[in-house]
Amino acid sequence: MMSGSETDGFAHQAQSALARPADAPVPPNSMDSLLLHVCCAPCAIWPIQALFQKFPDLKLRLWFHNPNIQPLAEFRRRRDGVAFLVSQLAAPNRSLTVDFSPPYEPDQFLARAAQTPKTPERCQACYEIRLAAAAAAAEAGGWGNFSTTLLFSRRQKHELIAQAGRMAQRPGARFYYEDFRVGWPAGQAQARAMGLYRQNYCGCVYGAWEQG
Ligand code: SF4
Repeated sequence: MMSGSETDGFAHQAQSALARPADAPVPPNSMDSLLLHVCCAPCAIWPIQALFQKFPDLKLRLWFHNPNIQPLAEFRRRRDGVAFLVSQLAAPNRSLTVDFSPPYEPDQFLARAAQTPKTPERCQACYEIRLAAAAAAAEAGGWGNFSTTLLFSRRQKHELIAQAGRMAQRPGARFYYEDFRVGWPAGQAQARAMGLYRQNYCGCVYGAWEQG
């Protein structure tokens, strides 16, 4: 299992991205580097491949930060699933690294959820927390762009995720939007074939309760 932060071993080339306005559209094949917030392995497998297909020279950093997941054992199980996925997808001609350094700190999520325990407001807060943190990490690391595998799931509130991503943008971190849901059947099939852990609830105790 991978643990801690992994260095990427290449020079960041985000200066051109930093010079663009945060909400400017990404020209085809122009993206140099991207920090991709990852919620779980089954949602990551298709977006990773789609990004490399569209941007062959992309320097892609996966970033696992999900304080919404309860309990801790479930958080670890999903994190380990992402580590396994990366071990399977690693290839010499790709720049694919992963960062598991964000600690498990559910306090902020639980405090926000207690204020708005009903969905969709609770889920909106959940997306905002994670994508604001992803934007900050992308900016601090010089990645220039950020996105999320949450955009893959047909079970998530897609428009709220896109809205949270746009809101989270910073001068040095532009939100990359793509409707990864088009790959849902293929990604699900791949996850099954690879034997990836596939959870049966979204992440939080509220979701586990609602989704049975
Ligand atoms: S159901 Fe999922 S998206 Fe909604 S608050 Fe819970 S973990 Fe977040």
